[in-house]
Amino acid sequence: MNEYDSNRIYDLTSTIGFNKTHIKKEADCFVLNTCHIREKATEKVYDEIGRVKKDFKNLKKPLVIVSGCVAQAESNEMMEREPYIDMVIGPQSYHKIRDLILNYERKKEKVNATEFDVVRKFDELQKISISQNKISSYLTIQEGCDKFCHFCVVPYTRGPEYSRPFQQIIDEAQNLVSNGAMEIILLGQNVNAYNYNKKYKLSSLIKALSDIKNLKRIRFTTSHPKDMTEDLIDCYRDCEKLMPFLHLPIQSGSNKILKLMNRKHDREYYISIIEKLKKVNKDIKISSDFIVGYPGETEEDFKDTMELVEKIGFVNSYSFIFSPRPGTPAATKELNNLVTSEIKLKKLQNTLENYQYKNNKKYLQKNCEVLIENKLDNQEKYFGRTKYMTPVIFEADSCRIGELANVTITSFNQKNLFGIYKTNKVEAA
Ligand code: SF4
Repeated sequence: MNEYDSNRIYDLTSTIGFNKTHIKKEADCFVLNTCHIREKATEKVYDEIGRVKKDFKNLKKPLVIVSGCVAQAESNEMMEREPYIDMVIGPQSYHKIRDLILNYERKKEKVNATEFDVVRKFDELQKISISQNKISSYLTIQEGCDKFCHFCVVPYTRGPEYSRPFQQIIDEAQNLVSNGAMEIILLGQNVNAYNYNKKYKLSSLIKALSDIKNLKRIRFTTSHPKDMTEDLIDCYRDCEKLMPFLHLPIQSGSNKILKLMNRKHDREYYISIIEKLKKVNKDIKISSDFIVGYPGETEEDFKDTMELVEKIGFVNSYSFIFSPRPGTPAATKELNNLVTSEIKLKKLQNTLENYQYKNNKKYLQKNCEVLIENKLDNQEKYFGRTKYMTPVIFEADSCRIGELANVTITSFNQKNLFGIYKTNKVEAA
Protein backbone atom coordinates (compact mmCIF):
# COMPACT_ATOMS: atom_id res chain seq x y z
CA MET A 1 0.00 0.00 0.00
CA ASN A 2 2.92 2.34 0.60
CA GLU A 3 3.89 1.91 -3.04
CA TYR A 4 0.37 2.88 -4.09
CA ASP A 5 0.43 5.87 -1.72
CA SER A 6 3.88 6.96 -2.94
CA ASN A 7 2.63 6.94 -6.54
CA ARG A 8 -0.39 9.02 -5.57
CA ILE A 9 1.76 11.47 -3.59
CA TYR A 10 3.85 11.89 -6.73
CA ASP A 11 0.70 12.37 -8.86
CA LEU A 12 -0.41 15.16 -6.49
CA THR A 13 2.93 16.97 -6.30
CA SER A 14 3.45 16.74 -10.06
CA THR A 15 0.44 19.06 -10.47
CA ILE A 16 2.38 21.84 -8.68
CA GLY A 17 5.51 21.39 -10.76
CA PHE A 18 7.49 18.66 -9.01
CA ASN A 19 9.23 15.98 -11.09
CA LYS A 20 11.03 12.84 -9.98
CA THR A 21 14.82 12.92 -10.01
CA HIS A 22 17.30 10.10 -9.63
CA ILE A 23 20.07 12.56 -8.82
CA LYS A 24 19.76 12.99 -5.09
CA LYS A 25 21.61 16.31 -4.81
CA GLU A 26 19.29 17.87 -7.38
CA ALA A 27 16.20 17.35 -5.25
CA ASP A 28 14.31 20.32 -3.80
CA CYS A 29 12.10 18.07 -1.76
CA PHE A 30 12.34 14.62 -0.18
CA VAL A 31 9.23 12.68 0.74
CA LEU A 32 9.95 9.67 2.89
CA ASN A 33 6.83 7.54 2.85
CA THR A 34 7.09 5.27 5.86
CA CYS A 35 5.85 2.03 7.36
CA HIS A 36 5.40 1.43 11.09
CA ILE A 37 4.86 -2.32 11.13
CA ARG A 38 8.32 -3.04 12.49
CA GLU A 39 10.72 -1.08 14.65
CA LYS A 40 13.50 -1.35 12.07
CA ALA A 41 11.40 0.62 9.60
CA THR A 42 11.23 3.62 11.96
CA GLU A 43 14.98 3.69 12.46
CA LYS A 44 15.51 3.50 8.72
CA VAL A 45 13.69 6.86 8.40
CA TYR A 46 16.19 8.57 10.70
CA ASP A 47 19.09 6.89 8.90
CA GLU A 48 17.82 8.14 5.56
CA ILE A 49 17.37 11.69 6.87
CA GLY A 50 20.93 11.50 8.21
CA ARG A 51 22.15 10.70 4.69
CA VAL A 52 20.16 13.59 3.20
CA LYS A 53 21.66 15.96 5.80
CA LYS A 54 25.14 14.82 4.90
CA ASP A 55 24.57 15.18 1.15
CA PHE A 56 23.16 18.69 1.57
CA LYS A 57 25.68 19.91 4.13
CA ASN A 58 27.02 22.62 1.83
CA LEU A 59 23.90 22.99 -0.29
CA LYS A 60 20.53 24.69 0.14
CA LYS A 61 18.43 22.63 2.54
CA PRO A 62 15.72 20.68 0.72
CA LEU A 63 12.17 20.42 2.00
CA VAL A 64 11.96 17.21 4.04
CA ILE A 65 8.57 15.54 4.44
CA VAL A 66 7.89 12.34 6.35
CA SER A 67 4.59 10.75 5.38
CA GLY A 68 2.95 7.41 6.13
CA CYS A 69 2.39 5.46 9.31
CA VAL A 70 5.57 6.47 11.20
CA ALA A 71 4.54 10.10 10.67
CA GLN A 72 1.09 9.28 12.01
CA ALA A 73 2.26 7.39 15.07
CA GLU A 74 5.26 9.49 16.07
CA SER A 75 4.58 12.94 14.62
CA ASN A 76 5.59 15.07 17.64
CA GLU A 77 8.50 12.84 18.66
CA MET A 78 9.83 12.98 15.10
CA MET A 79 9.74 16.76 14.93
CA GLU A 80 11.56 16.96 18.27
CA ARG A 81 14.09 14.25 17.54
CA GLU A 82 14.96 15.46 14.03
CA PRO A 83 14.58 19.23 13.45
CA TYR A 84 15.66 18.69 9.84
CA ILE A 85 12.10 17.42 9.18
CA ASP A 86 9.82 20.20 7.92
CA MET A 87 6.55 18.32 7.67
CA VAL A 88 4.91 15.16 8.91
CA ILE A 89 1.85 13.98 7.00
CA GLY A 90 -0.23 10.96 8.05
CA PRO A 91 -1.49 8.33 5.59
CA GLN A 92 -5.04 9.72 5.68
CA SER A 93 -3.96 13.34 5.08
CA TYR A 94 -1.59 13.14 2.15
CA HIS A 95 -4.17 14.49 -0.32
CA LYS A 96 -3.40 17.91 1.26
CA ILE A 97 0.28 17.75 0.38
CA ARG A 98 0.10 20.35 -2.40
CA ASP A 99 -1.51 23.03 -0.22
CA LEU A 100 0.82 22.17 2.65
CA ILE A 101 3.90 22.59 0.44
CA LEU A 102 2.63 25.88 -1.05
CA ASN A 103 1.81 27.22 2.43
CA TYR A 104 5.18 26.12 3.73
CA GLU A 105 6.94 27.97 0.92
CA ARG A 106 5.13 31.15 1.99
CA LYS A 107 5.27 30.89 5.77
CA LYS A 108 8.15 28.51 6.52
CA GLU A 109 6.23 27.07 9.46
CA LYS A 110 6.60 23.39 10.34
CA VAL A 111 3.55 21.27 9.59
CA ASN A 112 1.95 18.39 11.46
CA ALA A 113 -0.94 16.99 9.38
CA THR A 114 -2.15 13.76 10.90
CA GLU A 115 -5.96 13.95 10.76
CA PHE A 116 -7.99 10.91 9.69
CA ASP A 117 -9.61 12.37 6.59
CA VAL A 118 -9.92 9.24 4.49
CA VAL A 119 -13.22 10.06 2.68
CA ARG A 120 -11.89 13.38 1.41
CA LYS A 121 -8.58 11.79 0.57
CA PHE A 122 -10.08 9.44 -2.00
CA ASP A 123 -12.46 12.15 -3.31
CA GLU A 124 -9.44 14.38 -3.95
CA LEU A 125 -7.32 11.60 -5.43
CA GLN A 126 -10.09 10.75 -7.86
CA LYS A 127 -9.65 14.21 -9.42
CA ILE A 128 -5.95 13.70 -10.13
CA SER A 129 -4.89 11.69 -13.14
CA ILE A 130 -3.07 8.51 -12.31
CA SER A 131 0.51 8.03 -13.54
CA GLN A 132 0.90 4.38 -12.55
CA ASN A 133 1.53 2.52 -15.80
CA LYS A 134 2.86 -0.82 -14.71
CA ILE A 135 1.75 -4.14 -16.17
CA SER A 136 0.93 -5.17 -12.61
CA SER A 137 -0.69 -2.20 -10.84
CA TYR A 138 -1.93 -1.61 -7.32
CA LEU A 139 -5.35 -0.24 -6.49
CA THR A 140 -6.33 0.59 -2.90
CA ILE A 141 -9.98 -0.29 -2.25
CA GLN A 142 -10.10 -0.30 1.53
CA GLU A 143 -8.10 1.16 4.38
CA GLY A 144 -7.87 0.79 8.12
CA CYS A 145 -8.88 -2.02 10.41
CA ASP A 146 -11.36 -2.68 13.22
CA LYS A 147 -9.86 -6.01 14.30
CA PHE A 148 -7.31 -4.70 16.82
CA CYS A 149 -4.92 -7.63 16.90
CA HIS A 150 -2.87 -6.98 20.01
CA PHE A 151 0.47 -6.72 18.20
CA CYS A 152 -0.61 -4.44 15.35
CA VAL A 153 -0.41 -0.65 14.87
CA VAL A 154 -2.65 -0.46 11.82
CA PRO A 155 -5.91 0.42 13.65
CA TYR A 156 -4.05 3.33 15.29
CA THR A 157 -2.12 4.58 12.25
CA ARG A 158 -4.64 3.99 9.43
CA GLY A 159 -7.78 4.36 11.53
CA PRO A 160 -11.09 2.47 11.31
CA GLU A 161 -12.15 0.37 8.31
CA TYR A 162 -13.17 2.44 5.33
CA SER A 163 -14.31 1.10 1.95
CA ARG A 164 -14.01 3.30 -1.13
CA PRO A 165 -17.12 3.82 -3.28
CA PHE A 166 -17.63 0.94 -5.70
CA GLN A 167 -17.84 3.04 -8.89
CA GLN A 168 -14.78 5.10 -7.90
CA ILE A 169 -12.76 1.86 -7.81
CA ILE A 170 -14.10 0.60 -11.14
CA ASP A 171 -13.23 3.96 -12.75
CA GLU A 172 -9.71 3.82 -11.35
CA ALA A 173 -9.31 0.23 -12.56
CA GLN A 174 -10.40 1.27 -16.03
CA ASN A 175 -7.85 4.10 -15.98
CA LEU A 176 -5.11 1.68 -14.93
CA VAL A 177 -6.01 -0.70 -17.74
CA SER A 178 -6.01 2.22 -20.22
CA ASN A 179 -2.50 3.02 -18.92
CA GLY A 180 -1.40 -0.53 -19.77
CA ALA A 181 -2.16 -2.58 -16.63
CA MET A 182 -2.87 -6.25 -17.38
CA GLU A 183 -3.01 -7.24 -13.72
CA ILE A 184 -4.60 -5.36 -10.83
CA ILE A 185 -3.79 -6.08 -7.21
CA LEU A 186 -6.58 -4.82 -4.98
CA LEU A 187 -5.19 -3.50 -1.71
CA GLY A 188 -6.44 -3.02 1.80
CA GLN A 189 -5.13 -3.61 5.30
CA ASN A 190 -8.19 -5.81 5.63
CA VAL A 191 -9.04 -6.05 1.97
CA ASN A 192 -11.66 -8.77 2.26
CA ALA A 193 -13.60 -6.66 4.78
CA TYR A 194 -14.44 -4.40 1.82
CA ASN A 195 -18.11 -3.45 2.10
CA TYR A 196 -19.55 -0.42 0.41
CA ASN A 197 -23.03 0.66 1.46
CA LYS A 198 -23.72 -2.90 2.68
CA LYS A 199 -24.32 -3.72 -0.99
CA TYR A 200 -20.95 -4.22 -2.64
CA LYS A 201 -18.41 -6.67 -1.29
CA LEU A 202 -15.01 -7.76 -2.49
CA SER A 203 -16.69 -10.51 -4.52
CA SER A 204 -18.80 -7.84 -6.32
CA LEU A 205 -15.64 -5.95 -7.19
CA ILE A 206 -13.87 -9.04 -8.50
CA LYS A 207 -16.87 -9.86 -10.71
CA ALA A 208 -17.10 -6.31 -12.05
CA LEU A 209 -13.35 -6.13 -12.75
CA SER A 210 -13.56 -9.46 -14.57
CA ASP A 211 -15.63 -7.67 -17.22
CA ILE A 212 -12.82 -5.24 -18.09
CA LYS A 213 -11.72 -6.58 -21.45
CA ASN A 214 -7.95 -6.09 -21.44
CA LEU A 215 -7.48 -6.95 -17.79
CA LYS A 216 -6.00 -10.44 -17.53
CA ARG A 217 -5.36 -11.05 -13.85
CA ILE A 218 -6.89 -9.99 -10.53
CA ARG A 219 -5.39 -10.44 -7.08
CA PHE A 220 -6.10 -8.98 -3.63
CA THR A 221 -4.16 -8.58 -0.42
CA THR A 222 -4.14 -8.67 2.63
CA SER A 223 -7.01 -10.76 3.93
CA HIS A 224 -8.23 -11.75 7.37
CA PRO A 225 -9.49 -15.35 7.79
CA LYS A 226 -12.69 -14.09 9.47
CA ASP A 227 -13.68 -12.21 6.31
CA MET A 228 -13.23 -15.13 3.90
CA THR A 229 -16.95 -15.34 3.22
CA GLU A 230 -18.61 -18.00 1.01
CA ASP A 231 -19.24 -15.55 -1.86
CA LEU A 232 -15.56 -14.64 -1.90
CA ILE A 233 -14.46 -18.27 -1.73
CA ASP A 234 -16.76 -19.05 -4.67
CA CYS A 235 -14.93 -16.43 -6.77
CA TYR A 236 -12.00 -18.87 -6.88
CA ARG A 237 -14.30 -21.22 -8.79
CA ASP A 238 -16.28 -18.73 -10.87
CA CYS A 239 -13.87 -15.92 -11.78
CA GLU A 240 -11.22 -17.10 -14.18
CA LYS A 241 -9.24 -13.87 -13.91
CA LEU A 242 -8.87 -14.22 -10.13
CA MET A 243 -5.50 -15.90 -9.65
CA PRO A 244 -5.55 -19.14 -7.63
CA PHE A 245 -3.16 -17.82 -5.01
CA LEU A 246 -4.18 -16.37 -1.65
CA HIS A 247 -2.09 -14.69 1.02
CA LEU A 248 -3.96 -15.49 4.23
CA PRO A 249 -2.08 -14.59 7.42
CA ILE A 250 -2.53 -16.85 10.43
CA GLN A 251 0.40 -15.59 12.59
CA SER A 252 0.48 -18.68 14.85
CA GLY A 253 -0.68 -22.29 14.79
CA SER A 254 -1.44 -22.27 18.52
CA ASN A 255 -4.98 -21.50 19.67
CA LYS A 256 -3.63 -20.13 22.95
CA ILE A 257 -1.41 -17.63 21.11
CA LEU A 258 -4.13 -16.74 18.59
CA LYS A 259 -6.32 -15.85 21.56
CA LEU A 260 -3.58 -13.80 23.22
CA MET A 261 -3.08 -12.03 19.88
CA ASN A 262 -6.84 -11.27 19.71
CA ARG A 263 -6.94 -12.74 16.21
CA LYS A 264 -10.66 -13.62 16.49
CA HIS A 265 -10.24 -17.02 14.85
CA ASP A 266 -8.67 -20.29 15.84
CA ARG A 267 -6.55 -22.80 13.99
CA GLU A 268 -9.52 -25.09 13.19
CA TYR A 269 -11.42 -22.21 11.61
CA TYR A 270 -8.39 -21.30 9.50
CA ILE A 271 -8.01 -24.89 8.31
CA SER A 272 -11.72 -25.04 7.46
CA ILE A 273 -11.31 -21.97 5.20
CA ILE A 274 -8.39 -23.60 3.39
CA GLU A 275 -10.44 -26.78 2.92
CA LYS A 276 -13.34 -24.80 1.45
CA LEU A 277 -10.99 -22.99 -0.91
CA LYS A 278 -9.44 -26.24 -2.09
CA LYS A 279 -12.89 -27.69 -2.62
CA VAL A 280 -13.91 -24.91 -5.01
CA ASN A 281 -10.51 -24.77 -6.72
CA LYS A 282 -8.08 -27.66 -6.35
CA ASP A 283 -5.25 -25.57 -7.86
CA ILE A 284 -5.30 -22.90 -5.17
CA LYS A 285 -2.09 -22.30 -3.22
CA ILE A 286 -1.69 -20.41 0.02
CA SER A 287 0.91 -18.20 1.62
CA SER A 288 0.84 -16.74 5.12
CA ASP A 289 2.46 -14.55 7.81
CA PHE A 290 3.91 -15.83 11.07
CA ILE A 291 5.04 -14.11 14.24
CA VAL A 292 7.56 -16.11 16.27
CA GLY A 293 8.24 -15.48 19.96
CA TYR A 294 4.95 -13.71 20.75
CA PRO A 295 4.75 -12.99 24.52
CA GLY A 296 3.62 -16.20 26.25
CA GLU A 297 4.67 -18.52 23.39
CA THR A 298 6.01 -21.83 24.72
CA GLU A 299 7.77 -24.69 22.92
CA GLU A 300 4.37 -26.44 22.69
CA ASP A 301 2.81 -23.40 21.00
CA PHE A 302 5.66 -23.24 18.52
CA LYS A 303 5.21 -26.94 17.83
CA ASP A 304 1.58 -26.22 16.92
CA THR A 305 2.78 -23.64 14.41
CA MET A 306 5.24 -26.07 12.86
CA GLU A 307 2.52 -28.74 12.63
CA LEU A 308 0.19 -26.31 10.91
CA VAL A 309 2.89 -25.39 8.39
CA GLU A 310 3.36 -29.09 7.60
CA LYS A 311 -0.39 -29.60 7.30
CA ILE A 312 -1.09 -26.72 4.92
CA GLY A 313 2.17 -26.75 2.94
CA PHE A 314 2.33 -23.01 2.30
CA VAL A 315 4.11 -22.10 -0.93
CA ASN A 316 5.55 -18.80 0.22
CA SER A 317 5.34 -17.02 3.55
CA TYR A 318 6.68 -14.20 5.68
CA SER A 319 7.91 -14.79 9.21
CA PHE A 320 9.32 -12.44 11.81
CA ILE A 321 10.24 -12.34 15.47
CA PHE A 322 7.65 -10.42 17.50
CA SER A 323 8.39 -6.70 17.40
CA PRO A 324 6.66 -4.69 20.15
CA ARG A 325 4.99 -1.61 18.66
CA PRO A 326 4.44 1.31 21.03
CA GLY A 327 0.80 1.84 21.99
CA THR A 328 -0.36 -1.72 21.26
CA PRO A 329 -1.52 -4.06 24.06
CA ALA A 330 1.24 -6.60 23.29
CA ALA A 331 3.94 -3.95 23.79
CA THR A 332 3.41 -4.07 27.57
CA LYS A 333 3.95 -7.85 27.80
CA GLU A 334 7.13 -9.54 28.88
CA LEU A 335 9.36 -10.38 25.93
CA ASN A 336 10.51 -13.91 25.17
CA ASN A 337 14.19 -14.77 25.15
CA LEU A 338 15.55 -13.37 21.87
CA VAL A 339 18.05 -16.17 21.24
CA THR A 340 15.32 -18.81 21.66
CA SER A 341 13.07 -16.86 19.28
CA GLU A 342 15.86 -16.59 16.73
CA ILE A 343 16.40 -20.36 16.82
CA LYS A 344 12.67 -20.94 16.37
CA LEU A 345 12.51 -18.47 13.51
CA LYS A 346 15.35 -20.18 11.71
CA LYS A 347 13.62 -23.54 12.08
CA LEU A 348 10.33 -22.17 10.77
CA GLN A 349 11.98 -20.36 7.88
CA ASN A 350 13.91 -23.48 6.88
CA THR A 351 10.68 -25.44 6.71
CA LEU A 352 8.85 -22.71 4.78
CA GLU A 353 11.76 -22.34 2.35
CA ASN A 354 11.83 -26.08 1.86
CA TYR A 355 8.16 -26.04 0.80
CA GLN A 356 8.85 -23.15 -1.53
CA TYR A 357 11.77 -25.04 -3.09
CA LYS A 358 9.77 -28.25 -3.48
CA ASN A 359 6.91 -26.33 -5.05
CA ASN A 360 9.23 -24.66 -7.58
CA LYS A 361 10.77 -28.01 -8.42
CA LYS A 362 7.38 -29.21 -9.70
CA TYR A 363 7.64 -26.78 -12.62
CA LEU A 364 10.87 -28.23 -14.00
CA GLN A 365 10.58 -29.04 -17.74
CA LYS A 366 6.95 -27.95 -17.69
CA ASN A 367 5.24 -25.07 -19.46
CA CYS A 368 4.03 -22.30 -17.30
CA GLU A 369 1.77 -19.27 -17.84
CA VAL A 370 3.75 -16.07 -17.25
CA LEU A 371 2.61 -12.46 -17.41
CA ILE A 372 5.60 -10.59 -18.86
CA GLU A 373 6.27 -7.46 -16.79
CA ASN A 374 9.56 -6.09 -18.13
CA LYS A 375 12.87 -6.71 -19.86
CA LEU A 376 15.87 -6.96 -17.56
CA ASP A 377 18.37 -4.11 -17.92
CA ASN A 378 21.26 -4.84 -20.29
CA GLN A 379 20.17 -8.44 -20.83
CA GLU A 380 18.24 -10.41 -23.43
CA LYS A 381 16.11 -11.71 -20.60
CA TYR A 382 12.61 -10.94 -19.47
CA PHE A 383 10.84 -10.91 -16.11
CA GLY A 384 7.34 -12.08 -15.36
CA ARG A 385 5.28 -13.93 -12.77
CA THR A 386 3.31 -17.15 -12.69
CA LYS A 387 -0.28 -17.30 -11.50
CA TYR A 388 1.20 -17.92 -8.05
CA MET A 389 3.35 -14.75 -8.08
CA THR A 390 6.56 -16.76 -8.48
CA PRO A 391 9.15 -14.65 -10.35
CA VAL A 392 10.23 -16.11 -13.71
CA ILE A 393 13.34 -14.98 -15.56
CA PHE A 394 13.49 -16.25 -19.10
CA GLU A 395 15.24 -15.91 -22.42
CA ALA A 396 13.38 -14.86 -25.53
CA ASP A 397 14.33 -13.68 -29.00
CA SER A 398 11.25 -11.58 -29.14
CA CYS A 399 8.20 -11.24 -26.98
CA ARG A 400 5.85 -8.49 -25.89
CA ILE A 401 5.74 -6.81 -22.48
CA GLY A 402 2.26 -7.41 -21.09
CA GLU A 403 1.85 -10.67 -22.97
CA LEU A 404 0.59 -13.82 -21.27
CA ALA A 405 3.32 -16.18 -22.39
CA ASN A 406 4.05 -19.84 -22.26
CA VAL A 407 7.52 -20.38 -20.74
CA THR A 408 9.30 -23.71 -20.46
CA ILE A 409 11.00 -23.94 -17.06
CA THR A 410 14.56 -25.20 -17.33
CA SER A 411 15.91 -24.52 -13.83
CA PHE A 412 14.86 -23.07 -10.50
CA ASN A 413 15.95 -22.05 -7.03
CA GLN A 414 13.96 -21.47 -3.86
CA LYS A 415 12.58 -18.09 -4.98
CA ASN A 416 12.72 -18.03 -8.78
CA LEU A 417 12.02 -20.04 -11.88
CA PHE A 418 14.21 -19.78 -15.00
CA GLY A 419 13.22 -20.74 -18.49
CA ILE A 420 12.84 -20.19 -22.20
CA TYR A 421 9.98 -18.44 -23.93
CA LYS A 422 7.99 -20.92 -25.91
CA THR A 423 4.97 -19.18 -27.33
CA ASN A 424 2.46 -16.51 -26.58
CA LYS A 425 -0.25 -19.10 -26.87
CA VAL A 426 -0.77 -20.32 -23.35
CA GLU A 427 -1.02 -24.09 -23.29
CA ALA A 428 -0.31 -24.93 -19.68
CA ALA A 429 -0.97 -23.51 -16.22
S1 SF4 B 1 -6.36 -7.76 11.04
FE1 SF4 B 1 -4.36 -7.24 10.16
S2 SF4 B 1 -4.37 -4.99 10.01
FE2 SF4 B 1 -6.04 -5.55 11.39
S3 SF4 B 1 -5.16 -5.40 13.43
FE3 SF4 B 1 -4.95 -7.55 12.77
S4 SF4 B 1 -2.91 -7.67 11.81
FE4 SF4 B 1 -3.45 -5.48 11.98
